Amino acid sequence: MARSTSGDESACLAIDIGGTKIAVGLVSLGGQIVESCQIATPATSDPEEVFGALLGLITQVESDRFVVTGVGCGGPMDQETVSPLNIPAWRYFPLASRLKAELAVEVFIENDAKALAIGEARFGHGIGLDDFVAMVVSTGVGGGIYSGGRLLNGKSGNAGHIGHIQVYPDGNPCPCGGRGCLEAHASGLAIERMSNRPASEATEDIKHEVALALGRGIASVASLLDVEDFFLSGSVALGFGQQFLDEVQEVARSTHKIAFANSISVKATLHGSNSPLLGAAALGFLRAGL
Ligand SMILES: [Zn+2]
Repeated sequence: MARSTSGDESACLAIDIGGTKIAVGLVSLGGQIVESCQIATPATSDPEEVFGALLGLITQVESDRFVVTGVGCGGPMDQETVSPLNIPAWRYFPLASRLKAELAVEVFIENDAKALAIGEARFGHGIGLDDFVAMVVSTGVGGGIYSGGRLLNGKSGNAGHIGHIQVYPDGNPCPCGGRGCLEAHASGLAIERMSNRPASEATEDIKHEVALALGRGIASVASLLDVEDFFLSGSVALGFGQQFLDEVQEVARSTHKIAFANSISVKATLHGSNSPLLGAAALGFLRAGL
């Protein structure tokens, strides 16, 4: 089937892989999502079942117009493999080489929150900003950090794992094996565990608790890195609404009294629920030199 992108622009096959859903889209160089589709992440212990579901989704948007593939995936990961905490079937799964074997273009994989940050820098609120943090608050909690105009990678490429800042000593058990991590108090899975209902049906009390945890985590990052702009995406951050984001900002500003961290700004990513796919696309374009 013939498909076209806007004008003669190059397009990226953008893939966002999370613990709850996998989304695939075709994104133009200018940041238009030309087409997209998504499925629930298979609940399985079989790595091939997850990969097969991803390939099936890719065929739905397959196009001879994409010139590169960008993938945002839950962490942690290394240069060859991914081990998303919230996809237990994938432990050291060689996602990049497996996708390269299926697709006729280069494949670039990055932590989903770092990809979100790259997308925000290229298509969103991060345009013109040297210092900001993009965060995914959904099934898990992750972050991507721009400092001095550069994306922070860290020693093993996993910089920005904000979800594993401790916000409650001896708090809830975390998928990482620790306790009291931000992810163990603010992720969709944590909210389900705390309230015995889906995060989308969280009570005001639970939202308040989550805002406290997120605000604390953000305050620590702001103090450490001298950064004030935080852009949040993900089903929890977006689904809980503006009042929730305002409360997170209030907590973040009042946690520490250090002067440069008093003007922390917390808002939704510019393109809301489209931001993760745009991030994956921005990653692909960036790494391909486009
Ligand atoms: Zn943790």
